[in-house]
Parts: sequence; C-alpha cells; structure tokens
Amino acid sequence: MAKNKYFIGYRCTLCGSFFTPEQASFTCPHCGEKGILDVIYDYKKMKKGVNLEYFEKNRDYSMWRYAPMISIADDHIKDMLRIGWTPLIRSNNLAKLLGLKTLYIKDDGLNPSGSSKDRASGVGVLKALEAGADTIATSSTGNAASSLACQAAHIGMKAVIFVPKRAPIGKVTQISLYGATLIKVDGDYKDTFSFSKEAIKRYGWYNRNCAINPHLVEGKKTVSLEIAEQLDFKPTDWVAVSVGDGCTVAGVYKGFYELKELGLIEKIPRILAVQSEGCEPFVIADHTKQPLKEAEENTIADSISVGIPRNPIKAINAVKNSSGIWISITDEEILQAEALLGRTEGIFAEPAAAASLAGVVKAVKEGIIPKEESVTFIVTGNGLKDPANAQKVIIPPLPMKPDLETLDKFLKQKEKEN
Ligand SMILES: *Cc1c(COP(=O)(O)O)cnc(C)c1O
Ligand SMILES: [Zn+2]
Repeated sequence: MAKNKYFIGYRCTLCGSFFTPEQASFTCPHCGEKGILDVIYDYKKMKKGVNLEYFEKNRDYSMWRYAPMISIADDHIKDMLRIGWTPLIRSNNLAKLLGLKTLYIKDDGLNPSGSSKDRASGVGVLKALEAGADTIATSSTGNAASSLACQAAHIGMKAVIFVPKRAPIGKVTQISLYGATLIKVDGDYKDTFSFSKEAIKRYGWYNRNCAINPHLVEGKKTVSLEIAEQLDFKPTDWVAVSVGDGCTVAGVYKGFYELKELGLIEKIPRILAVQSEGCEPFVIADHTKQPLKEAEENTIADSISVGIPRNPIKAINAVKNSSGIWISITDEEILQAEALLGRTEGIFAEPAAAASLAGVVKAVKEGIIPKEESVTFIVTGNGLKDPANAQKVIIPPLPMKPDLETLDKFLKQKEKEN
C-alpha cells in the first residue's frame, strides 16, 4: 500500500498532544470525543515534492491531484469518481451589481453528488478501504449522506445513513437511489447525530462523521487548494463559505494554511463565515464572546441547520487565524441571493450554498468587505437538491391555451413587469 509519505501524525485541537498514526485514529486518546484531531504533515519534506513544478506537470484534473497532501494511501484513487476541480467562475454581472471589481464563484455544486461533501466522502471511502471495512456509516443533514451513498456505491462498499426527518426530498431520494441503507430519524439533526453514534459503536461500521474522523477535513481542504491554483496561487482577499458543523470552513482554512507553509501563496484569504439567523451558534458565540451554546435549528438552509456544531474548535480557529469575520443573514436574504445568483450568473445553488453569497452581499453593504477587495464565494451545493425552497422566490407559470393571441398578451404583460 502506497501510504502518504508526508503524513506524520495528529495533534489534538483541545490539549495539543501529538500522536503518531499508530497511536490514534479518530479522536484524542486523552480528551475523548471532544478532542478532535488535526492531521499533521512534514511540510519541509512535502515542499520538495509538492511545488509549482509538480502542479505544472500534473494532468489529473480532480481533487486527487492533491493526493500527496492528503493522509490517504493512493491505491484506489483510480477507482474513484471524478471529484473536485470544479470551475472557478469569474463573475461579471453579479460583480457589477454588487459594485465589486473582482468576484469569483467556486461552483462545488458540480461535484458527482452535487455538493462539496464529495470531497470528504471520497477520502472517507478510501480510509474505510484502508481500514478493511465493508460498511461505512454517517449521520448528516442530507448532503454528506447523499454524497457518501454516491461514493460508496461507486467503490462497491455498503453504506448506512442517518438523516433527520426534515431532510429535503431531493437528497433523500439520492441516498436511496444510490442503494444505501437509509434511516430517517424521527427527530432533528442533534438526535440523528447521537443515534448514529450509538449505532456505529454497536455495529462497528467505519465512521464518516466529519468532526470525529480527522481525515475528512483533509478532503474538504482541496477546495482551497483548487481556488488558489486556479488563480495562479494568488487567491482573492476574501473567501466566503457557509458554516454548519464547521468542517468545511476548517478545511477551507487548512488548505490555504498549507499552501502558505509550502511557500506557494503569500497570504491566507480572510474567511467570511456565514450562518443563518435561524441557527447561528457560532455567530452568537463570536458576538457575545461566550463559549458556544446549543442553538435552535430553524432555517430553510437545511445543510447549515446545525444546533450543536461538531467541529467548533477547528471552525473558530479557522476564522480567527485568517482574520476572518462571522456574519449571519436571514432566510429571506438567502432566498433573494439564490434567485440573484440564478438570474445573473446561471448558477443554481441550494439555500445553504446561496447563504455564502447572501453573506457577501451583506458584508459589502455594511462595508465589512471594501469594494476594491477581491472575493470568492463557494457554492457548496446544487439547487436541484431542494427545488421546494427555490419555488418560494419564483412565480410558477399557469397553464396557457396554445393560442398565439393569448401568448401575445402574456408577453406584453411580462414586458411591462420588467
Ligand atoms: C455541509 C454543508 C455546508 C456546511 O459544512 P459544515 O462542515 O457542516 O460546516 C454548507 N453548505 C452545504 C451545501 C453543505 O452541504
Ligand atoms: Zn487531547
């Protein structure tokens, strides 16, 4: 097995202890479950193999071009679906509307199962194979679930998935269609997470839960590696991303941090971390300077409706260490951003993904992001996963008689409205 030659171990985000790959695998042996581990590499050594020349020669246009930076064995990469290397789109229309000079959209909704979660699930199934597991399990608000079901199906592994009963039909349909065992928990995400933990312990399945399994953030960080490389290693001043459990934002930071360690970028973009007002535990903790407290889960952005975030320390450090900002927006602002993105750029985002744009809109309006600074926002999930919420900001057409005169009137009316 060709293991990653730069991966040297783990550091606990709580007590700071270091462990070799043999001494730990999931959470900290001293701190228990709250001791989430960070994966550590030998960057001095990595620098020799992972440099501009490596990237120039690399023809693998997927997240696996970064395999030397991920704590995985690379044996089964060739059997995976093509995850990552999603387009980074320069915005014209939307940028002009917001008065921004430079605005990029990282469209991660174009991953195999339609969300950023594929980056983590890809790593999850590879780690499960390394561990010799035949079944991988997770709890999820929906996207991690549909993504894991997708990746497991392709690699030929069994998947057991726990979702809360509110998970949107698009995502739930994906899970069953990919052939996973689906357990729809009669409760919210908090209940779902605890129940999955009990079940995983009982049956000994491989655990994909992103906070508990330290390797998954290593998958998520590839989104920043791509943003940087797609901009010739000169990333924008800001990167906006929405936050639920906190694994995605942790990955976004880690990717940039490592590129800086490797001497490939000069500075780490400031992270605009976005939550919905209906569920904003991080924002409250930030504004009140109090420890994180459980919050209500009351937003249409189901993917970030996480009342008890499972990766709080990494998320808080990510924003702090990037001189970032926490911000929250309303559900109405999310829906408006979703419509705006579709109308101006032809990109359909699910509510949690449009939240990042809503955050940018608000931050520009409030002067948090000056107009001359450059911005990238990440579209973390595809809008087709949740058409029901999108329906709230469009006007569904009524059936029309197939008659040209009626059409004529209709078009004239439309013109007036515009
Ligand atoms: C999971 C998810 C997020 C947030 O990621 P966390 O790791 O939970 O913070 C944002 N947007 C979408 C579409 C997601 O699926
Ligand atoms: Zn510890």
